[in-house]
Amino acid sequence: MTDLTIKFCSQIVLTSRRLIPILDPPNQGIRARQKGFFTSQGPIQPGFHGHHRKEEKMKNRLFRLFTLLFAAAVLFLPLCGQAAQTRIQAKNVILLIGDGMGPSQFGAAWIYSNRVLSRDLRMSELMKKGRTAYLVNDTADAIVTESAAAAGQIATGQRMTARALSMAADGKTPIKTIMEMVKEKKLATGLVTTSGITDATPAAFAAHVAHRSNEESVADQELKFGVDVLMGGRKQFFLPESAGGKRKDGRNLLEEAQKMGYTVAGTAEELKAAPTGKLLGLFNMGNMSFEIDRAATQEPSLAEMARKTLQILSKNKGGFFAMIEGGRIDHAAHRNDAPATIRDTLAFDEAVGVAMDFVNKNPATLLIVTADHETGGMALIGHSKESKEYIGINLKAIEKATASFEVMVGKWGKKPTPEMIKEDVKQSLGIDLTDDEARTVADDAIKKLDPYNYGYNYLHSLGFVLRPYLRVGWGSQTHTASPLFLFGSGPGSEKIGGLLHNTEVFTIMKAALRLK
Ligand SMILES: [Zn+2]
Repeated sequence: MTDLTIKFCSQIVLTSRRLIPILDPPNQGIRARQKGFFTSQGPIQPGFHGHHRKEEKMKNRLFRLFTLLFAAAVLFLPLCGQAAQTRIQAKNVILLIGDGMGPSQFGAAWIYSNRVLSRDLRMSELMKKGRTAYLVNDTADAIVTESAAAAGQIATGQRMTARALSMAADGKTPIKTIMEMVKEKKLATGLVTTSGITDATPAAFAAHVAHRSNEESVADQELKFGVDVLMGGRKQFFLPESAGGKRKDGRNLLEEAQKMGYTVAGTAEELKAAPTGKLLGLFNMGNMSFEIDRAATQEPSLAEMARKTLQILSKNKGGFFAMIEGGRIDHAAHRNDAPATIRDTLAFDEAVGVAMDFVNKNPATLLIVTADHETGGMALIGHSKESKEYIGINLKAIEKATASFEVMVGKWGKKPTPEMIKEDVKQSLGIDLTDDEARTVADDAIKKLDPYNYGYNYLHSLGFVLRPYLRVGWGSQTHTASPLFLFGSGPGSEKIGGLLHNTEVFTIMKAALRLK
């Protein structure tokens, strides 16, 4: 009905525009004739009077038609206004956050997708169809943000201090989040991540704690909030120590959740079978696996979780808000692991595709895809060890990798030998390290040089020696202040463009949903 009204209103405007030159004073009429109106056999030349009578008759008819349309326009004008308003209001918001996904993570995934998988990223499709902006993310007390402050700024629109979750600088005053606002309006809500569901990004939307490490409280608050769909890892914060969890209060939140009406799923199969009511999916005691290590029967992909989430939340007639996070892009980049970073970015892109397909069928949805910060200072460098020719990223080695560096290094034990390292790197990546390079890793030279920027055992030394082989370099293990991308489509996305601060993401979502 709304679409019909919009079409009708547009038609009135279009028809009126076509008629105005015809009914204009004589001079303009001549100009219109000079431009070729009234004839399908080419423009009528000035001074041509053969069709004068016919023209007069037509003018009269058109005048009557115009009067009729004008009257209809006056009658329908209030409705047109309403229709325009309905059009810009979003019913649903889907916010996808690639944690740690800076321009190079995006670029590496784009190259891999196009050249190895022979398909473009869904994110590039969204860039073409929708709108794109650069995003900056400094906080109340830092130039380089971490995930808690970044997510808090997106969730509340206010600058946050480090490690607090949607809490004022005093550490006591909660700041209302977009999800609390939509909940009051009876919208359904969902939080999904491949990291822990109690980790900073999802937590900032539904919980308030002075320090993000208080994950026991976050788990409790997320359930009390009544988030309709909660999915991710870190089941340990829902279970008491007696059941292998980390809760010191002895509570079993899985049992409590079931009593609250949640279906609890623990595997990909259980997720598939889950009904479309409230859902708590916890697929790992710790974070969910890196995409490169994931066993598909045990843990669902981010895309599978996204699909189920949208299926459940869209049952709510009043609309929904969903935050879906590719949480482990960040973790792979912290470990300077290029293959795992790229695979998790691709898994995130697949989830973006699920959201885009949903939006195609449900156009009253504001879709926003962005990142909270860049991680690692990832650089797609040019030269190999052999030549000064620009060659770029080693897609063959990235494609060959079948395990994360974390899994690889985990097998080395406490004192790996250079021989062991050489053999493993050859087997995993098809790369022949020199003796010196293998010794650099065995000595963990990079960590020794700069332990605050390179804190993980062996991983950064490995990342460093692999740099000219993979043609991926890392400036640090930390987050960086690199500007980010933000892509969006749907009602409210017209405000996306230029350079935005991440606090403005909140403003855009709030305006799209007409929240006060
Ligand atoms: Zn991080």
